[in-house]
Amino acid sequence: MHCPFCRHADSRVVDSRTADEGTVIRRRRQCLGCERRFTTVEQLTLAVVKRSGVTEPFSREKVVAGVRRACQGRGVSEDSLARLAQRVEEHFRASGSAEIPSREVGLAILSPLRELDEVAYLRFASVYRDFESLDDFENEIATLRADRERAERHRDENEGQEQDSTLTVAEP
Ligand SMILES: [Zn+2]
Repeated sequence: MHCPFCRHADSRVVDSRTADEGTVIRRRRQCLGCERRFTTVEQLTLAVVKRSGVTEPFSREKVVAGVRRACQGRGVSEDSLARLAQRVEEHFRASGSAEIPSREVGLAILSPLRELDEVAYLRFASVYRDFESLDDFENEIATLRADRERAERHRDENEGQEQDSTLTVAEP
């Protein structure tokens, strides 16, 4: 980045901040030659690297299209799909990497999809985690069941705690 005043090649960053939900970085710089200050704006594009090595811009629409197929017949709303795609994008923006292997995109979809619909999750996981046999499905379903039971136990315990605290408050 050359200084816009004297064309000096080096500058130091005085301040940097992100804007537009982390898609833009503004940096305040000071020229090491003439010491004048200027601002640069960097647009952070997320790129997806396909298996062939070709890169293309990250697209929420593509995420939605892929997930929608797995959700067929499951009554998942378009709103939920859009929110899922947003979460996936935010996940990668927060990670700070500009290039994402396409496989990583599929894996990043798994966790929010699991919260959305377990059947759609299984369909999607069978592709992205290379399920090869019924055993893979069985193991995954066993994990889902165990996690669900743990969550239910946890919820029951919390409800118990809430009742306890109500009792305490009610005491004179
Ligand atoms: Zn300068």
